[in-house]
Amino acid sequence: MAKPMVLIVEDDSILICLLTQAVNKFEYTAVVARSGGEALGIIASKMPALILLDLGLPDMDGTDIIRSVRKTSAVPIIVVSARDKEQDKVDALDLGADDYVTKPFDTRELLARMRAAMRHYSNMITCGEQHSEMYYHCGDLFIDHEHRRITLKGKEIHLTQNEYKIIELLSRSGGKVLTHNNIIDAVWGSDAPNDTKILRVNIANIRRKLKGSGGSEYIITEPGIGYRMPEADPIQ
Ligand code: CA
Repeated sequence: MAKPMVLIVEDDSILICLLTQAVNKFEYTAVVARSGGEALGIIASKMPALILLDLGLPDMDGTDIIRSVRKTSAVPIIVVSARDKEQDKVDALDLGADDYVTKPFDTRELLARMRAAMRHYSNMITCGEQHSEMYYHCGDLFIDHEHRRITLKGKEIHLTQNEYKIIELLSRSGGKVLTHNNIIDAVWGSDAPNDTKILRVNIANIRRKLKGSGGSEYIITEPGIGYRMPEADPIQ
């Protein structure tokens, strides 16, 4: 069977080389597009399994590609960008990118992000977003999505309804960053004001409850962007 294809959209030759090596380690076939136009042509003709996307392309902005792809497809998109402004990352994620890696990137980190995005996508298409994974298990933390039950070292953790919604959302996307907007929309509804204060208060409460039971840090802050939980442990 042919290996699934990863499309690398990048105009810098050195980065193309590094990204191609990373993709080959991932045991996927790398296809390169050096411009936005070329990328859109390839995406339309042979659907890649994942897209690694540079934002600064010679003929268009990478965010235009995210916008265009998201009209028809949920294929995982990971932004690989030199732009380190938080707003650029937030914009890309809010437009529907799955994750981002800042250049210069660490290959192991990139591979972890690729794995998380692919797993999330395959769960979404096989089970539907709402029913993706029944459990989340990482270290001492166990979340039973079906019964809405959280235990840490076997001891039950009691969360408020909104606290539970937040941890459910983050754990279902384990390994993937979610922006403040993503979380606020999902928990309080898209009409809710984009006020991160209430979100921060809820996250602080969840952390306090987990720490109080001797848990380590399960919710990682991405400063100025949002939060992510670690990838779930592999199923034994
Ligand atoms: Ca570039």
